[in-house]
Amino acid sequence: MKTGFLYGIVACSKTRVRCVLCGVHIPKANKCIEQHTNGAKHKENVELMTENGITFKDNKLYCKPCMLELSLEDSVIGHTEAESHLNWMAAMEDLIDGEYISIEPFLASEKDDALCEVCHSTFQCTLQNIESHVNSINHRTSISEYLKPLNGIFPVENDDELWCKICNTFIENTATGILEHIDNDEQHMYWFTTIEDLIEEQDITIKSFLANEFDNNAYCNKCHLEINCNARSLEDHINSDIHLSHFS
Ligand SMILES: [Zn+2]
Ligand SMILES: [Zn+2]
Ligand SMILES: [Zn+2]
Ligand SMILES: [Zn+2]
Ligand SMILES: [Zn+2]
Repeated sequence: MKTGFLYGIVACSKTRVRCVLCGVHIPKANKCIEQHTNGAKHKENVELMTENGITFKDNKLYCKPCMLELSLEDSVIGHTEAESHLNWMAAMEDLIDGEYISIEPFLASEKDDALCEVCHSTFQCTLQNIESHVNSINHRTSISEYLKPLNGIFPVENDDELWCKICNTFIENTATGILEHIDNDEQHMYWFTTIEDLIEEQDITIKSFLANEFDNNAYCNKCHLEINCNARSLEDHINSDIHLSHFS
């Protein structure tokens, strides 16, 4: 019951109630309570809860990340600014950065668990679990399999190696080799930054170019034209009259 106007309101004294989300007292009259729960401050705190894994159940505030029942003296803001909570959130963000692990539904209490989008597996959302998952061989393998067709990386006859079409270079056929190339190879990263900068907001797609070894073209969805997938040709096309005419 996240929308009911009594959400977050607990009895306090004969004349007052308390909003435990905001940590304030309110006169015990429906009109006052409703006014409070419709207020911007209260709504902000409800939103803060969904971003921070805090729930309100059985008149109690509970923080799922910290696995901690908050004292009624606490408020949502108070807890989200607490060091232990901030540390968890920061450590978690570090762990899942670039790992395709989704924890938003967990924080918003829509799901009990974290979800790995590349392994299609769910697990209890603790720092320890996530850390061991992101470091597992299974996850490293899934993520490199997922990234290959997004990065122009293809198998070759020799199983020990892969071929990067973008850099025209061979890389080691291991999860580490692939991730190392995608995340650290300067030429590879430079190509992506350049091309992505160019096609951003131009409705040009390079997905098929990246996923198909023998496709040499980007595709302009506006002009229904294939364009050689290199910076020079793309730039020429983006500045051509035919393409510009679609954006005026
Ligand atoms: Zn409130
Ligand atoms: Zn917490
Ligand atoms: Zn995974
Ligand atoms: Zn490359
Ligand atoms: Zn075009």
